Amino acid sequence: MSRLNLLDLLPSELEDLAESIGGPRYRGRQIAGWIYGKGVADIEAMSDLPREFRATLAGRATVAVPEIERRTPSQDGSQKLVLVCEDGARIQSVLMPDADRLTLCVSTQVGCGFSCAFCLTGTMGLERNLTAGEIVGQVLAARATLPAGARITHIVYMGMGEPLANYAATVKSLRILTDPGGLAFSPRRITVSTVGLVSAIERLAREDLKVNLAISLHATSNEIRDRLMPVNKGFAIEELLEACRRFPVAVRQRITFEYVLLKGVNDGPEDARRLVRLLKGIRAKINLIPFNDWEGSGFQRPALHRILAFQEILLEHGIRATIRWSKGEDIGAACGQLKETVEV
Ligand code: SAH
Repeated sequence: MSRLNLLDLLPSELEDLAESIGGPRYRGRQIAGWIYGKGVADIEAMSDLPREFRATLAGRATVAVPEIERRTPSQDGSQKLVLVCEDGARIQSVLMPDADRLTLCVSTQVGCGFSCAFCLTGTMGLERNLTAGEIVGQVLAARATLPAGARITHIVYMGMGEPLANYAATVKSLRILTDPGGLAFSPRRITVSTVGLVSAIERLAREDLKVNLAISLHATSNEIRDRLMPVNKGFAIEELLEACRRFPVAVRQRITFEYVLLKGVNDGPEDARRLVRLLKGIRAKINLIPFNDWEGSGFQRPALHRILAFQEILLEHGIRATIRWSKGEDIGAACGQLKETVEV
């Protein structure tokens, strides 16, 4: 039987566990201090825990941080990490430095089942969900690679997989990452990105997590979105935007709408104007992502002047719109380029 992974537990649950093996509750806080404060994964090395307690704990549990198999640095300073889970599944995380920020992009599933037409990860299909511990473990693994003094300032759930299709593990990982006794990230520095699963967005709205929401919109008519994102056949644009209107957005925060620009598909001035109309009444900002090409995709990135013209229309209407020149394009780590080939 596989042992309990302590990374699946909230600090309060570590206290419960400590109690259940005959120790005082504060032993749980000590364990959290070792794991999250000091980055120690070896239970035997947690030297302020009594020897017998350590032995009992080690008999039942491990701290399963995914192992780094490969680190690929990009010319732009970002870095792709290929991580191996306990069952051998491979996932990817991407570290992206930018001015005074260091953002980590984490995966929530092995592969993805949503088959967005322009996304390489989607061609893998869904292999399995990650556990909360495997999501949290990516943060610990990435942190361990950093030079002294550097720290991860932001986390985006934008790696492989659809976070809201792995709802329970995603929410649990968010609670562990933001727990003051855990990694203590401010929820305002965490963003969860979704293809637009309306019922899950509504559920997330009730969790009181205060994390940021990003929506992969990518089209302004149901006809185009149906073609690009099969999920749209279940939840149409109007319904999705209604859920966004009802989502509790913190003061000074906005919902991010991601919009991949595909030449001749969704990059015209009429698309930009429709986008302006659709987002009326929503505290929104738009992230325009020029398409990152991959072999056999069948799509192309628009010319620079088309990208800038699209942005200009949004700006003229007072909508915040930035162009996200993806990081890590040269190492296959850009948006929608994450794919691990299974080696046989
Ligand atoms: N499943 C979630 C999390 C993935 S986030 C979601 O869809 O939001 C990754 C972002 O990159 C999504 O907005 C996705 O649509 C976008 N993307 C996928 N493939 C891309 C590509 N080839 N070029 C640019 N962006 C892409």
